[in-house]
Amino acid sequence: MINAVTDFHSLFGLPDRGVRAVCTTRQTGRRQGVYQGLNLATHVGDDLKVVIKNREWLRRQFNLPDEPRWLNQVHGAQILEVGQNLERDSADAAADGAITLVSNTVLAILTADCLPILLASCDGARIAVVHAGWRGLLAGVIEAAVAGFEGAPVCAWIGPGMGPCHFEVGPEFKALFPEPGLLLSKPGQRDYLDLPEAANRRLQKVGVRQIVQSERCTVCEKDTFYSYRREGATGRFASLLWRTLG
Ligand SMILES: [Zn+2]
Repeated sequence: MINAVTDFHSLFGLPDRGVRAVCTTRQTGRRQGVYQGLNLATHVGDDLKVVIKNREWLRRQFNLPDEPRWLNQVHGAQILEVGQNLERDSADAAADGAITLVSNTVLAILTADCLPILLASCDGARIAVVHAGWRGLLAGVIEAAVAGFEGAPVCAWIGPGMGPCHFEVGPEFKALFPEPGLLLSKPGQRDYLDLPEAANRRLQKVGVRQIVQSERCTVCEKDTFYSYRREGATGRFASLLWRTLG
């Protein structure tokens, strides 16, 4: 999964349904500088020529069937439905998730602390990707994506993001995440949000039973992942999902 194309359903102990997933790292690409690694985002101030080269490398390295459908992520709850007609779907649409039935359409989420969440129906017929930071989570982006599966059983992978070890938040989060166990407090310190657990609970609440947590923290793993919290100006890594069967 991390830096290797994986049979998505194998993560859940299910037979291969032809759905493939990969999560990139910063261990390849440029060796130095703010964007050291394989930055795939065009909106973070990086040299666009380099980003385009990185995207080309991504396609070759992981043998992607098409250019990923990059989204303009805005911390909302809009899910883009990607259909057969590629001309009709605007490029870089403002959305924080995408869903498709179409084979060889590569869905993509870019992150550096927010959670990438990859979803597939357990039969592999439909796939979706979600960008979930705390704002998107509260806006209902997970519920919006799962609704797109129209009741079919769903498998969900919660990817690398800022873990409870690092997600320090202000007192206003007590009202935002009032459920017990989501804010971890240490005596004399501020609270820490368990964002992956918050995502996990929201998935369960809308009926998703098969959930795998990557348990990777972007802030802890500085050689592997970009982290906005740790670095400010930095790149974004991608979580990608596509169907190979017609
Ligand atoms: Zn951490």
